[in-house]
This record gives sequence, C-alpha cells and structure tokens, in this order.
Amino acid sequence: MLPAATAKARKFCKKLQFGRQILFLAIRDFYSANGHFATEIPLIFLHSQTLLLGIGSPMGFPGSFFCRGCVFAALFAFSGLFAAPGDYLGLDVLSDRCSGTVSYGEGGRCGTVRGKNLELQCRLNGACYRLNGVNVYGQCAVAGQPGRLRIGRDDWDRVIVPLLSPLAVAPPRRICIDPGHGGRDAGAGRTRGNLEEKNLTLDVAKRLKILLKKRGFEVVLTRGGDQFVSLEDRSAIANGAKCDLMVCVHFNAADSPRAEGIETYILPGQGYSSTARLNSPSAKDKKFCTNNRYDEKNLYLAYCLQREMKGLRSAIDRGIKRGRFKVLEDADCPAVLVECGFLTGSRESARIADGNYRQAIANALCEGICAYGSRK
Ligand SMILES: [Zn+2]
Repeated sequence: MLPAATAKARKFCKKLQFGRQILFLAIRDFYSANGHFATEIPLIFLHSQTLLLGIGSPMGFPGSFFCRGCVFAALFAFSGLFAAPGDYLGLDVLSDRCSGTVSYGEGGRCGTVRGKNLELQCRLNGACYRLNGVNVYGQCAVAGQPGRLRIGRDDWDRVIVPLLSPLAVAPPRRICIDPGHGGRDAGAGRTRGNLEEKNLTLDVAKRLKILLKKRGFEVVLTRGGDQFVSLEDRSAIANGAKCDLMVCVHFNAADSPRAEGIETYILPGQGYSSTARLNSPSAKDKKFCTNNRYDEKNLYLAYCLQREMKGLRSAIDRGIKRGRFKVLEDADCPAVLVECGFLTGSRESARIADGNYRQAIANALCEGICAYGSRK
C-alpha cells in the first residue's frame, strides 16, 4: 500500500500532466487557427509562449478569470519545461489520459491501450508502435517489465499525440513529386529481372502526377526524364517552386530475398537519431535542418501515406521510420520519402514489374496526399 500522501501526490501529478496535455493542444490549435507559422514553432517554444502568456496577462487584466487561467497555464507549461529528459510514462497513465483500458498479452511483453479513437500496441524493448493499425517507429525503445510497460514521454508528446490530434493543415495546392535516382544513378542494385529503380520511380511519379492533376493539384516533378539530378537540386526545385508538400518516390533493396514491404521515412527531429541507430545521436543529428520546422506535419503526412500504402495487395507494413536523407533535410515544406517495395524479393518485385500494381501505388499515394489535406 502506498502511504496516503504519496498516493495523493501521484494523483495530483497525473492531473497536472493531463492538464498540460490539454493546454498544449488548445494552444497549438489556437496558433494553427491564427497563423500558418504556428506549426513551424518547436514544441519548447510553445511551452515558453504559454509561460509568457501566463506571466504577461495578469499584469494587463488583474483579477480576471482569464488571468487565473493563465497563471495555471504558466504553471502547467513550467512543469513541461523542466520535465526530465528520458522520462517514461506507464501504459496505465496513458490509458487514464484517454479514459481507456490496458491489456497485456504474450506474458506481459505486449501491451495494448484502447480508448476512444485510439488503439496503441507496443512491445517491451521494441521501438515500433502500432497506432490505429499503422506501424510507427518512436524515438526510444519501450521500457519497464512484463505487465508494466512504459513508453518514452517524448514519444507520447512528439509521436503519438500529434497523430491522434493532428494540426489543422492548410490544404496543399502545389505538390512536388521526386522520382528517386535518374541518369547515371540507376538506384537499387542487384534487383530481380533487371528492374531499374530509376525507371520505376519515374513511372510511378508520372502516374501520380496525372491523378493529382485530376484532383485539382498543381504538380512539379524534379525530373521528367532519365536525367541525373543531385539531392541538393531536388529540394531546391521544390523550394524554388514554393511547393506545399514533397513526396520522394523510391523502391527498396536488401541482401535478403525475403525482405518485402512498404516503409515511409521522415527526417529525425533535431537531436534525435535515425531509426536504424536508435538512441545514439551523432554530431550530425544535433544540427537543425530547414525541414525540422515541419516535424509534426512530416509525421502526419507519412502516417496518411503509409495508411494508404499498407492497403496495397499483399503489402507488408514496415512502418514509418526516420532517416537523415539529404533530400529531406533542406525541403522547406512537409516532406517524406516513400520506399514503395523491394526490387530484390521475388514476390514483391514481380508485383512491382506489373503496371497495374504501379498504378495502385500511385492511387494510394494520391489518396494519402488528399487525406493529409482534408485531415481525414
Ligand atoms: Zn532509391
């Protein structure tokens, strides 16, 4: 049994955290409703804003209800500013936050939180969450012990919450499609049946362009033929044309012929490492890239695309991952890189060689882009 005071303190802390979350969402929505720049403000800045709002407003309107609200707001924000890095939250805390339930399977190693509009599955020591049916890699591994799993607070704040209640996004008008490789750069090596990645990416990009134009979008391709375009030039083309979104189309390769499936990459947040090197940020990971202004939108765009792509015939959902790709770093708009399947596996490469399947890929990408714009 916990001493009564400890139990009380714990309950209060839970409430405080919950309040902070609600407040954060309210401020975020306020900003997104009042200016497009809102989403480009990093999370920490939002917290500081709350603090300033809380301190500043009482001076202007002493004694008002609004004032007291702001003081509380500042306190909540303050608690967020000093949250210890590497903080973890138990699944029971998360289920309380969403008025849901927790259940465990596989000897307590696999946990599920179910709430209104939420089904979150995770696995002890795993970094991949299954969030409402889509695999999304977090930024740290799930900790705890069987039957008592805990997930990183950063993952809750920066991965799960933004996907459960995504920002209002201005509907995109101009889309940049970037067919990977080209010219002397053929792309994936050792492919089955001499499939050339550069030709397949261009084929999908052209199909996608037709579909998007039919839906009223303007479309910019980084290459319309078989020519070499540097990675720097690709994002420069998107930026120069003031595109609202950038989707890089690629196909994958692996040593194992059994590797298959779809994965969507976004740039890691500043200070975070790529999914392949989880929890080991290098000096490179510490720098702020232009595209980091869109961390949350990148994630939501990736989620919309991966949700559609995993519905493709026999496609395996390999998840949303983070990768420090040069082509993403400098994009001044939400940007993702979609690996549309493996050219080295016999079953998947046979599907990709079929024009009907590539049309299905283009359809899924188009639906994902439309879903992003309409916040479906
Ligand atoms: Zn590629």
